[in-house]
Amino acid sequence: MKLKLDKILDVISISVTIIFNIYIYILTRSQRLSFIIGLFSIFMIVSLYIYKMIYKRYSKNIFIKLSDMLSAIIDMKEETFFSMIEDSLFSKLQYQTIKLTSILKNKNNEIEKERNEIQQLISDIAHQLKTPLTNLQMYGEFLQDESLSKEERNEFSKIIGNSLNRLSFLVESMIKMSRLESGVISLKPTVNELNDTILVAINQVQRKAKAKNIEITLEATNKVVINYDKNWMEEGIFNILENAVKYSSENGIINIKVQSYEMFVRIDIKDSGTGIEEEELPKIFGRFYRGRNAADTEGIGIGLYLTREIVSKHDGYIKVESTNKGSIFSVFLPNKN
Ligand code: ADP
Repeated sequence: MKLKLDKILDVISISVTIIFNIYIYILTRSQRLSFIIGLFSIFMIVSLYIYKMIYKRYSKNIFIKLSDMLSAIIDMKEETFFSMIEDSLFSKLQYQTIKLTSILKNKNNEIEKERNEIQQLISDIAHQLKTPLTNLQMYGEFLQDESLSKEERNEFSKIIGNSLNRLSFLVESMIKMSRLESGVISLKPTVNELNDTILVAINQVQRKAKAKNIEITLEATNKVVINYDKNWMEEGIFNILENAVKYSSENGIINIKVQSYEMFVRIDIKDSGTGIEEEELPKIFGRFYRGRNAADTEGIGIGLYLTREIVSKHDGYIKVESTNKGSIFSVFLPNKN
């Protein structure tokens, strides 16, 4: 359609020029003037034609580059088709497309990462559920055997009880985890005395500590009154303390030290346990991560993950140092009340 219009315009302009020349010739009867005007008209028509050709080629080139640019966006390649240093419309366009490509790339990576995390989470959960569910099924069937002795029956019932406990602990931990992560539960910070919270956590592990003759001491000079969610913080400190008991052998010592500075409060929980190997230190806060030293110990690898979530939701952070003589977990919280 556009091509036809182009041709019609060409024919019209050439016809108008010829008619104009004839008109001038009839009017002036001067061959010389008609010749000069005719020559000039031919020159103008040829120049216009050449200009049109050059412009067409230039536009075609631009459209090819624009189309390549779109393909690069689709393929998420950060390629340049127009000079970026020139202050032209195309260089601005080029800059924006590179920006768009990098945004798309990042988004894509995020989606990919999330997808992998979800897959990993599902496989971790399935793995955690497998053993207790298999035990429930297997020992449930064993119990139906009427010829079982009383001792065997008791033993199998105990295994079933333990598997149920493990399942409910797992489900409870996952509910907490998802509530914290999704923000369904928002922390309700109030002004609290930190030593009181630590004492509650100590009481919760005292029975297990006593069973291994582990002594727990709390070293705190002054009252530290700061703002935090009491229940969640109890849980966070309890998880570290429970590990300190779990990964210590009999007659160990756990020392808790609270220090208050102008900007933050530091809680050190030091144990005399097995310690954590250096290359494992960055991994222990991961979801479902269990260390090499955890093979003979109860747990699902969620405690430290939850603690770190809780502490970071309070704008704090947690750090760990460890040797083969024990570990120190340090919790840092903002000193605000
Ligand atoms: P769980 O104790 O259920 O395995 P956690 O998330 O609480 O899971 O801890 C992750 C891992 O970190 C543990 O499996 C263990 O290897 C290591 N760990 C944590 N606390 C200590 C500690 N106080 N001493 C030695 N190892 C520890």
